[in-house]
Amino acid sequence: MVLADILHKKELDRNDLIALLCITDPDELQALYDAAYAVKAANVGRVVYYRGLIEFSNRCIKNCRYCGIRRDNEEVERFDTARDDILAMARWSYDNHYGSLTLQSGERQDREFIEYIEALVRDIKQLSGGKLGITLCVGEQTEDTYRRWFAAGAHRYLLRIETSNPSLYATLHPQDGHHRWAVRKQCLDALRAVGYQVGTGDMIGLPGQTAADLADDILFYRDMDIDMIGMGPYVVHHHTPVGVDVMLRGLDSDQEKLRRLQLGLKMIAVTRIFLPDVNIASTTALQALHPLGRELGLKAGANVLMPIVTVPKFRSQYLLYDNKPCVDERPEQCKDCLSARVASVGDTVGLGQWGDSPHFSHKR
Ligand code: SAM
Ligand code: SF4
Repeated sequence: MVLADILHKKELDRNDLIALLCITDPDELQALYDAAYAVKAANVGRVVYYRGLIEFSNRCIKNCRYCGIRRDNEEVERFDTARDDILAMARWSYDNHYGSLTLQSGERQDREFIEYIEALVRDIKQLSGGKLGITLCVGEQTEDTYRRWFAAGAHRYLLRIETSNPSLYATLHPQDGHHRWAVRKQCLDALRAVGYQVGTGDMIGLPGQTAADLADDILFYRDMDIDMIGMGPYVVHHHTPVGVDVMLRGLDSDQEKLRRLQLGLKMIAVTRIFLPDVNIASTTALQALHPLGRELGLKAGANVLMPIVTVPKFRSQYLLYDNKPCVDERPEQCKDCLSARVASVGDTVGLGQWGDSPHFSHKR
């Protein structure tokens, strides 16, 4: 079936999603991105919302086989950002009219960490008179912990499922009982039960991942009633088991990187067309593969950006993958650079607004 026929269907099925994800013809690709941008304009508007991203610690109890800050990477110098430094970055974000913040770190489940996050969320809410929205992205926790952090003032939570295919998930994680797909899915259910706006996403272009897997990821977002999506291309980290394997198999050539970038953009476009009212982030990983990756993401239907607000001295220690952009920049530079990127697409920035997912608001 040709692209126009698929796009005119009232409801797309799995085969349609696969067909769209397999498009490679440049004219058809452009038509797909244009169609997704039109869906974005009609449903969430041509407004981009910022979530200032504070990567506050790279300590992690997990050992995901693709991630640069995995527990066993002994090359990584571990850091914790001082509480006052995090609060200073939160204040900077507030003063610069970022509507909300995302607090991200490696995963820990100990009591000290749980209490620390709880107090931090309260402090950030207080310093902004309740105005800064807070998204947490700190991994798998118990429902009780999610509830405590929600009560403290966090209202969104991002936990990528990474892939909706449990067998593929198993190849990407150690089989030690601590990295279980079913537990990750249960966490998403728990977050929904607590009342968060729930975000998830996948890595795109993983070794062994098929177009059908990616189509199933989009169906997973629908079936899990997800409000916001933060997905992005898989990018090699040289000192990880998956990264080494990919490099040895010659799967990290410039051509392969371009393929993963294109797949990442197609995922944004097809997800936007299939789930018109969710928030979709144009992630930094797109820019790791192409200097204009994030603009291309906005043009393909994304409506959220996550400017890095991490304390500059720690940026080079939070390297999930190689060639991470913005590592040498200060928050002011990131802000100016992103405004220019948004303007170049013809969108505007929703300054000072939470920019909640319309999908979440529609359910209320
Ligand atoms: N530790 C928490 C967790 O895993 O949910 C939050 C932080 S973790 C660094 C955030 C995301 O980084 C993961 O969900 C994963 O998708 C992404 N990530 C890790 N390594 C990556 C890589 N090599 N390429 C692209 N994304 C990667
Ligand atoms: Fe830790 Fe998250 Fe990296 Fe996994 S992806 S090793 S949980 S920081």
